[in-house]
Amino acid sequence: MISGRAPKGSLVSRAALAAACAVVLLANTNTAPSGLFPGGDARIAADDANWVTTGRSYDEQRFSPLSQIDDSNASRLGLAWYADLNMSRGEEATPLVVDGVMYVSTAWSVVRAFDATNGKPLWTFDPAVPRSQLVNACCDAVNRGVAWWRGRLYVGTLDGRLIAIDARTGKQAWSVQTTPRDLPYTITGAPRVIKGRVIIGNGGAELGARGFVTAYDAMSGRKVWRFYVVPGEPGKPDGEVSDPQMATARETWSGDAWWKQKAGGGNAWDAFAYDPELDLLYIGTGNGSPWNRMARSEGKGDNLYLSSIVAVRPETGEYVWHYQEVPGDEWDYTATQSIVLADLVIDGKKRKVLMQAPKNGFFYILDRETGKVISAEKYVPVNWASKIDLATGRPVENPEARYSELGKPFYGTPSSLGGHNWPPMAFSPRTGLVYIPTQELALPYVSDPAYKKAPLGYNTGNRLGASVPQLTSPLKEAKGYLMAWDPVNQREVWRAPRDTFGNGGILATAGNVVFQGTGTGFFKAVRATDGKELFSLWGQTGILAAPMTYMVRGKQYVAVLAGCGGVYGSACNLYGKDGRHANLDRVLVFALDGRAKLPDAPAAQAMVLDPPAVTANVATIAEGDRQYALRCAVCHGYRAVSTGNQPDLRYSPFIADPDNWRSVVLDGLLANAGMVSFSKVLDHDQAEAIRQYLIAKAQEQRARIKGEKGTKEQKGADEPVMHAS
Ligand code: CA
Repeated sequence: MISGRAPKGSLVSRAALAAACAVVLLANTNTAPSGLFPGGDARIAADDANWVTTGRSYDEQRFSPLSQIDDSNASRLGLAWYADLNMSRGEEATPLVVDGVMYVSTAWSVVRAFDATNGKPLWTFDPAVPRSQLVNACCDAVNRGVAWWRGRLYVGTLDGRLIAIDARTGKQAWSVQTTPRDLPYTITGAPRVIKGRVIIGNGGAELGARGFVTAYDAMSGRKVWRFYVVPGEPGKPDGEVSDPQMATARETWSGDAWWKQKAGGGNAWDAFAYDPELDLLYIGTGNGSPWNRMARSEGKGDNLYLSSIVAVRPETGEYVWHYQEVPGDEWDYTATQSIVLADLVIDGKKRKVLMQAPKNGFFYILDRETGKVISAEKYVPVNWASKIDLATGRPVENPEARYSELGKPFYGTPSSLGGHNWPPMAFSPRTGLVYIPTQELALPYVSDPAYKKAPLGYNTGNRLGASVPQLTSPLKEAKGYLMAWDPVNQREVWRAPRDTFGNGGILATAGNVVFQGTGTGFFKAVRATDGKELFSLWGQTGILAAPMTYMVRGKQYVAVLAGCGGVYGSACNLYGKDGRHANLDRVLVFALDGRAKLPDAPAAQAMVLDPPAVTANVATIAEGDRQYALRCAVCHGYRAVSTGNQPDLRYSPFIADPDNWRSVVLDGLLANAGMVSFSKVLDHDQAEAIRQYLIAKAQEQRARIKGEKGTKEQKGADEPVMHAS
């Protein structure tokens, strides 16, 4: 696997290279076993050409041994084919390719198969997810991929089903409902199949849910085990394999608010990895539900197993060890970011490690046999904790960070969007470096002392999106970059700046190339050793998903999904000075000397800003601000500015007329498009106050555009996030 090619890096120091190469030698000889996909199909498992599980291999390294495309020829890349998905949502899946067929899951949990050489559609499986389910999703109708196992595909649906599909025909083999239908659970993560068990988690911790992971028999769909992440009602065991751990975990919770709210959180929605030698399945768990620890657990306790890595046996779900990254989480600091397994030489000793760059800003290296933390260092600026105490494994917290206890806002870095979010990182055993889609962004945490669980939408216990005096334009100040991180020495080796935060996941290859799409729609290849850009093509739409690579009949391809979406209406940018650009969800596939051409991008849709005059008083507009922040901001954008795929409501024609507004917000006129009625949480006056707030914001925007007025602070506060390109 070592090519022998001399690294050509210029930015990277000799010392770093020497350290990296030392890792390479050992990493290469030792990662192969866990890099396979044993048990599914031995022929395919051993085959470099295919990509059979979301992270390519059970270690989730997202490293391909293919090297036809390398750092000497990547500039010859071009589009081999593309396929329009006829959707306009976030696309977050990593495609799979098995024996020349590509399997893609798209928004709304639709699965499609294509001829991987030319994009010819083979079949489509649509699970018909009710569009009203969108209100239960924290972050758009996304899906992160399918699993493949012995001729079948497995997809989790936004409404909580796990479905087995015949990979040849696209016909359903079985379907099970994995979540309670009366609670706001969703599935957006890719299943993993281990030893004939389909492992599936779920999301919902933003809305009010109790996380769990379930294993189903791959052939029959029969439930095999379920592991709850947080305790339920005292004195009522679940009758599941996690019962002994829930009894222990309960000691770290206080009061009864979390279970009475049917919440607690910890939802493990995406991060799983498996070590076949140790026979351990690693689960990355989510944040507390509600976020606010006062509202959840009387402001006390570690609240196990929130924000943890939990190791279990894949056949039985039996607990083996856990490590909690964020005791008593109240910042949405999930441990659900990608988990990567590798063998590294640390202090002269070969260690079987688990690596994670979770939201909280520390890069963790754990001993994956024992769960002991080996090292943890800041990979982005961090202000909630000064360090991780390696003796105890616990963070040394900044007391100011406990906003719910202090009743005082905390301006957190990283924010709830994280130093790194779900877009997967990759590890190259060839360079010994981890490639992280990194971002810097601060947001305020503001406790809501009057919090009561709402029957619809977000339930964080915080005034999410609330205005705080010191905050002007967090999104404008945010930045994103692709960072190469040396895990052994815990330091940055290089970074490639991006136009915005919220960029795509990563692929690393043996050709010494790292691939990434950007939030502004570019697909890029850079040299793995130093980050030098080798190739860039504008794909017309923001890319969040991770690329993958495969080979058919001797030709290597690289594929990625484009499609802008996600939380806060801002994870990527569709808005330019000329208006709103189309969100063209697509599969983009690249190869050397590819000659396919995208059709010209449609002209931007001019945005008409035509609000009526402000008639409401200051108190009404302030109430509208409060209600907007609580009910609307996570989809339609912070302080009424959307740059993503949900409408910017300042420009909405519906704000002009109170009856039309009410028919959408309270009567559910647009429910089939995913905008359900909010009458469960908004009364007539509150809905009207939101309209008045939006009118005021629209008038501010109009004034700003005309340059007539607007204080300096206002200008900074509400300008849409404009990007360089
Ligand atoms: Ca969360």
